[in-house]
Amino acid sequence: MPAASPSLYAGVVVDTPLTRVFHYRVPEELSSRLAPGDRVQVPFAHRRVHGVVVSLTPEPPIDPAKIKPILSASPEAERIPPDILELTRWIGNYYRCSWGTALAAATPAGIKHDKHLVRRRHVRLLIDPGEAEEQAGKLASRAPQQAATLRTLLAVLSEEEAPGGLLHLDHPRLDGVVNPAALRALSARGWLALGDTEGLPPAETSFPEVEKTITLNPEQAAALERLLSALDQGVFAPFLLHGVTGSGKTEIYLRLISRALAQGKSALVLVPEISLTPQTVSRFRNRLGDLAVLHSRLSDSGRAAEWRRLRSGEVRLAVGARSALFAPLENLGIIVVDEEHERSYKQETAPRYHARDTALVRARLAGAVALLGSATPSLESWHNVKLGKLELLSLTSRAGPATPPRVEVIDLRQEWADVKKPTLFSRDLERHLGQCLEKHEQAIIFLNRRGFHTQIRCGSCGDVLFCAQCDIAMTHHRQAGKIRCGYCGEEKDVPELCPACGSPALKFGGSGTERVEDVLQRIFPRARTLRMDSDTMTNRDSHSQALAAFAGGAYDILLGTQMIAKGLDFPNVTLVGVLMADAALGRSDFRAAEHTFQLVTQVIGRAGRAAKAGLAVVQAFQPGHPAIRFAVEHDYAAFVAAETQDRARHSYPPFGRLARIIVSGRERRQVEERAKQLGQAARKTMPGKYRLLGPAPCEVERVEANFRHHLLIFAPDNRAIATWLDAMAIKYGEDGGIRVILDIDPASLQ
Ligand code: ADP
Ligand code: ZN
Ligand code: ZN
Repeated sequence: MPAASPSLYAGVVVDTPLTRVFHYRVPEELSSRLAPGDRVQVPFAHRRVHGVVVSLTPEPPIDPAKIKPILSASPEAERIPPDILELTRWIGNYYRCSWGTALAAATPAGIKHDKHLVRRRHVRLLIDPGEAEEQAGKLASRAPQQAATLRTLLAVLSEEEAPGGLLHLDHPRLDGVVNPAALRALSARGWLALGDTEGLPPAETSFPEVEKTITLNPEQAAALERLLSALDQGVFAPFLLHGVTGSGKTEIYLRLISRALAQGKSALVLVPEISLTPQTVSRFRNRLGDLAVLHSRLSDSGRAAEWRRLRSGEVRLAVGARSALFAPLENLGIIVVDEEHERSYKQETAPRYHARDTALVRARLAGAVALLGSATPSLESWHNVKLGKLELLSLTSRAGPATPPRVEVIDLRQEWADVKKPTLFSRDLERHLGQCLEKHEQAIIFLNRRGFHTQIRCGSCGDVLFCAQCDIAMTHHRQAGKIRCGYCGEEKDVPELCPACGSPALKFGGSGTERVEDVLQRIFPRARTLRMDSDTMTNRDSHSQALAAFAGGAYDILLGTQMIAKGLDFPNVTLVGVLMADAALGRSDFRAAEHTFQLVTQVIGRAGRAAKAGLAVVQAFQPGHPAIRFAVEHDYAAFVAAETQDRARHSYPPFGRLARIIVSGRERRQVEERAKQLGQAARKTMPGKYRLLGPAPCEVERVEANFRHHLLIFAPDNRAIATWLDAMAIKYGEDGGIRVILDIDPASLQ
């Protein structure tokens, strides 16, 4: 027996809902190099599972005879950095999920499930297809395998429309078809290159950026100076940058990040949804050079490749949506959360973290500057300014020559009464649109509803066509010739008869973007309209390509849903039309007014962003509602004052904290019963002045055939929520066909 070296034991967190840390023995061959953050494979309940080492001790924490060994460990280059370990632990505690669940969300699948050695191989043709074809012909008799392989590659490359492109060898048409020896031989001839650099990030559309030397205006300069001095100090400093749309916030991010990179630090930029903000990404790349773009449409291997580039320090700037928060950057100088008010920062599956709030925690752990930016800050962040938790920086006017757009409000009730019928375009909006087109300027038309008609009602029995699985009206999509459920995606042919009574008298009503396109076509037959909604934007690059085409002047009108509300900066857009600004006000969510205010402000802000003056026409049924009125008046402070009163009166967030418990299942009675029990447990343990709403059915009670009921618990602060939840001692997860979910700081109450 070799001389016994001192044993080492590792605390390992595995990807399960179990909150415990499990202990394993470190085998000798790993003992010199294993460290917290290493991913390992361990035996777990007769299986092999992935886990992450979170601690190492020389003492066996339990009877050493019962401790099993670690089976394998990832290379040091893939070690999860210490602040991500700490951050995920915080997420587990705060959002009440297991550390393992949080760690799993923080590690890209391509890294997590990498078998350490298996790399995705690819091949690229180095000669042109014509020559390859010729060579294949010559090889056919001498080396039939090579000829066949070459021909297969050519066929797949042309199918993929990627003659100069790269093919992964696990491509379904190649896997097991092409001969590895033949590939090597072809590569030795210099005709093709084999590699394993993993999927390259998809090509990005670049937007023409007008080269301009920008001199910061005094407000921008003051904000930047404050931020730079915080950055230079190298300690945690959280800011809220409140700048009206087009005030030059992005310009500040760029300069701040540029300084951080020059100091050898790294930087992280979170944006709400990367596919919706290709322009922003393009600006960052143009100004700051190489960066890692992390978005949901990257392949696993592409994401893993970006993760490795960041981990190795090859790139020090990451831009991405929510989960980019976990980018493995060391020596972090700055985290920017752009459009910090966006709901998409909240993850709606476990771990249900809010990326904006968690970004503040990461910045604190890293001693970095945290910069939350918005034209319409969330009430939560505004409240944090009042509490002194965020330092406020303001940009009150548009940057450069641009002035805020003029806004005209149309009262749709009046308009419809005047013209004696419901119309999508008021007379005023139609006139302005006509003028805009005549001047060869561009317009943006916004309606937050998809489809052609949004409702189908039977004229005989009055029934509305609902999804069979969800409590939601089916939408009519005329082009596709289908009716569709916006929740579960269920699709059916358009019925000719009422499914309830058999009458043919079906009435189609309510308008979505598809119908608006149709109407536009009729009023302005020569105008070129680009419609963007999740029906038309289906493949990987369609967003950025479509937006680039619009930017390049290939269209006159951009029509769309909320997809077009954010981050777009087109100098030739001088008119914005909001068709039904208050469409979402009726929702039973205490944030409905806030969301409406934000959306309307953002959309209006797309007009007149450069030298040409902008006009926004806002149509609404309740133009006097604070959410509409103050958006139209560009008066954030007045909206916040009105909204704050409402929230405070009901102790809704930000006045106190909210947690939501959702019960769902196939059997309505069981769901009701379980929700009632939880309600009783909550009432019994409820401390004095706290509040409980429900149990009650969710706004849309049934989704994908599951009934959903919820409880909302309100307490003064997070600790109070935690104590209360502890006292309730609820078992979350699935049990007997009933699922119980906990959502801390829920963003949606649907
Ligand atoms: P925001 O991020 O606040 O919406 P941007 O940073 O996108 O604003 O700026 C809006 C437009 O104004 C951009 O085209 C930007 O290049 C330009 N811009 C920003 N700052 C200035 C400035 N000080 N002078 C002139 N133009 C500016
Ligand atoms: Zn009927
Ligand atoms: Zn459905």
